[in-house]
Amino acid sequence: MTSHVENLPGVTVRVPAKINLELRVGPPRPDGYHGLATVFHAVDLVDHVTVTPAERWGVDVEGTDAHLVPEDDSNLALAAAKMLAGAHTEKAFPVHVHVCKQIPVAGGMAGGSADAAGALVACDALWGLGLGVEGLHEYAARLGSDVNFALVGGTAVGSGRGENVVPALTAGRYEWVVVQAEGGLSTPSVFREIDRLREGREVPEPRPAPELLAALRQGDVEGLAACLYNDLEEAAFSLRPELESVRDAGLMLGAVGGLVSGSGPTIVFLARDRHSACDLAAALVNSGAATRVHTAVGPVPGAQIVESTPPA
Ligand code: ATP
Repeated sequence: MTSHVENLPGVTVRVPAKINLELRVGPPRPDGYHGLATVFHAVDLVDHVTVTPAERWGVDVEGTDAHLVPEDDSNLALAAAKMLAGAHTEKAFPVHVHVCKQIPVAGGMAGGSADAAGALVACDALWGLGLGVEGLHEYAARLGSDVNFALVGGTAVGSGRGENVVPALTAGRYEWVVVQAEGGLSTPSVFREIDRLREGREVPEPRPAPELLAALRQGDVEGLAACLYNDLEEAAFSLRPELESVRDAGLMLGAVGGLVSGSGPTIVFLARDRHSACDLAAALVNSGAATRVHTAVGPVPGAQIVESTPPA
């Protein structure tokens, strides 16, 4: 490595988890994916991804459930950095990727996709590629269905397999309680289960409900709660029946709405305000319905550079 590169500071990016406020799943497509109509919402449960110039490529992970995340080429943040480097060989150089996780792993909150988006933004800055979010979208789409949303954050309508994202107009902030389940659920197994459960049923092409977008524009918490919807919830409950009791407990304890996040097993509850969210989180723990509980607020921005770290 040249001394010029060695002296470059590392770059740290903060990147949020997502909740699907609405997730409608179409029939399987010929390419094996399912067409989706979804409304993504970024919340302030975040991972930090730091890239630093290094002699050789590498990755390490700390924080929530870090032991469940691979520290090899299958790590989505390292894979993202290497993919971007492969397309920009004239400017890219090896980096070490450090991931600090707060987003539950395999929880249906797109933590791996968030880390991939974080690595793209950090490497774009470190290597001076000047691509920006617009230029990074094509790499994001190749890395996974949720990576594009992690780049933009906020609240957005997703289509295709989730990679086409269009920002949605929203008013106000929404207070959430996030209940982390023990163990993950693999996204492909949840999609296989929904296909199994739907055998013999007619599955329409997915379309977002206009009422949900109207509630978001009006900052209408009750209206949003009434529209929360996830086609994968049935499959997640079928694979993990105990999740349904957690959802029911949260609703009984005062949540205005609640549903499985993405492919689960994380369950998210919408609260009337900040105070109610804290009360609900405490009540879920005190009642024994949940042990790992976070409060979160959305919408928040997508992947953002938070600091440049001087070389050691
Ligand atoms: P989605 O909601 O996008 O389906 P998820 O939130 O359910 O995803 P992830 O946390 O993204 O799940 O993890 C899915 C799998 O990806 C896990 O088996 C995990 O080990 C692996 N993985 C690879 N790299 C990462 C990473 N940087 N962070 C988290 N998981 C990763």
